[in-house]
Amino acid sequence: MERSREANINNLKSKSYDVLVIGGGITGTCIARDAALRGLTVACVDKNDWAFGTSSRSSKLIHGGIRYLEMFDFKLVFEACHERRQLLLNAPHLVYPQAFSFPIYKGDKNGLFMIESGLILYDMLASFRNVKNHRMYLHDRAMQLEPELDGDRLKAAGVFYDCSTDDARLTLAFMLSALDDGADCVNYMEVLNLHKSNGKLCGARVRDALTAEEFDLEARVIVNAAGAWGDKVCELDEPGIPEKLRLTKGSHMLVPRGRARTKNALPIISPADERLMFVIPRGHFTLIGTTDIYYQEDLDHPFATRDEVEYMLEAANRAMPRCHLDKIDVISTYSGLRPLAMKEGGTDVAASQVSREHRIYEGHSGLLMIAGGKLTTGRSMAEEMVDLVSRRLLEKHGIETKSGCRTKNNPILGTPSPETQAKVRALSYKLKFDSDILEGLLKQGSDALEVLAMVGEDESLAERLSPEIPHVEAQVRFAVSAEMACTVDDFLVRRTEIYYTERDQGLSVAGKVADIMGDILGWDSGERKRQIKAYEDTVALSRRYAE
Ligand SMILES: Cc1cc2nc3c(=O)[nH]c(=O)nc-3n(C[C@H](O)[C@H](O)[C@H](O)COP(=O)(O)OP(=O)(O)OC[C@H]3O[C@@H](n4cnc5c(N)ncnc54)[C@H](O)[C@@H]3O)c2cc1C
Repeated sequence: MERSREANINNLKSKSYDVLVIGGGITGTCIARDAALRGLTVACVDKNDWAFGTSSRSSKLIHGGIRYLEMFDFKLVFEACHERRQLLLNAPHLVYPQAFSFPIYKGDKNGLFMIESGLILYDMLASFRNVKNHRMYLHDRAMQLEPELDGDRLKAAGVFYDCSTDDARLTLAFMLSALDDGADCVNYMEVLNLHKSNGKLCGARVRDALTAEEFDLEARVIVNAAGAWGDKVCELDEPGIPEKLRLTKGSHMLVPRGRARTKNALPIISPADERLMFVIPRGHFTLIGTTDIYYQEDLDHPFATRDEVEYMLEAANRAMPRCHLDKIDVISTYSGLRPLAMKEGGTDVAASQVSREHRIYEGHSGLLMIAGGKLTTGRSMAEEMVDLVSRRLLEKHGIETKSGCRTKNNPILGTPSPETQAKVRALSYKLKFDSDILEGLLKQGSDALEVLAMVGEDESLAERLSPEIPHVEAQVRFAVSAEMACTVDDFLVRRTEIYYTERDQGLSVAGKVADIMGDILGWDSGERKRQIKAYEDTVALSRRYAE
């Protein structure tokens, strides 16, 4: 497998592809992997970094979508429960069980009977093969479980299970798997234009955002998996075509775990508009969100506003009245855009009521677009899309796809065996790594052994980036050489979660990261300064709510 960006770019220039995938979020990378596994020649490009869009800005849950039960969307829940299980099998180092405590209060619209029936249904839709089935706890035991809840109002709590993940690393892992299976994948490569021959698509003009070089590439079928940018890609194909998507913005915030100490994740209801949100423990932090607001502004730089942060704080404080969370507790915020596929004429509803089901569209020139869906269902969405790609390749180009879908029960690249994990633990112990460093290494799957081998050759690479930050220099080097990290942002926001979880969001180590990356990538001092400034801008956006 060739993980270097340059080698992949050379391939884009010289090869002719069965399929070009536009967009390197979860949808695009899953499609690239599925198509490559079926023996198709595949190119996948993203105009920014892998998972730069919504795929690094989600609630980081792999879930059946319990709230869709209220909308009677059983098909969506069934599919998502099935895919949750697939991800637990296929990416166990990145997807882990997450218990939820569902509080039931006196006077709730949905009382104990309704909630328990819903939880039974949730277990049923997972064919009773979830991590564990649900359990109900009456008042006293529920308060023992979650002492932060409002004991005066609480009647009971139902405990059920979903999963948590690192969304950016999950997307990266699918991209690396696609590379391993033969796809050519390049980040920072924007599709500027689409080429046609006799009215049918045959290729694209792309621009390398790092060098400004432009060139053409050939592809028989083109898939638009550009998420929130999907309509913009359609516009390249058919200028003036009506938009298919409505976008909503969802914002989250992180606070220290000690300020919102729940045992399990909590569904919470906003007192402002009765919307469901979540409080999710993530190591030393608690993630709270999300909002859901129609959005028409800058797609590349959505940010959480003061109103959104106040809305989330209000809901969290109502659910956990002793916490008294305040803006001062907020470490970081982030916002993502939901590309909701609208039904014709169906736009006049609250954003949170629009279906999260995905839709596939086909343009007159053959452009295939997929929009909507979830991180959880990326694999099955890809299966459906590549089935269609295969049909079009056969009908229009006489190309037969070698095999059917091969992504079911098929672990992604880097899924470590128990022996590999034991080796990573033993080597980390030998190097006297703290447990927080080991935790990050384990998320790198079998690649952790490569990182540890780098340290074996040069012990200075075992140095932590700072006493507070649980990452070592070797991880920065590895991100550049084997994970296509091209900017300081890539490392601090998407190869690690430093941007989200450190009090200073990693500003104090941005210079060090720029130096390590710059030494490998040949950055001069001007470029190093530019990289640091770009990262400062990213952090400033996350703090705009406080202005
Ligand atoms: C707030 C929020 C919370 C969510 N939480 C969850 C959750 O907990 N669990 C879950 O399962 N789902 C969740 N979802 C849904 C899920 O995150 C999204 O459905 C999914 O990430 C969308 O992925 P995507 O690949 O379609 O789009 P994106 O991740 O946005 O990827 C699209 C990519 O296309 C690229 N692109 C755009 N234009 C071009 C071009 N011209 N050339 C090249 N590349 C281009 C962009 O740079 C971008 O990286 C959440 C969504 C939101 C908004």
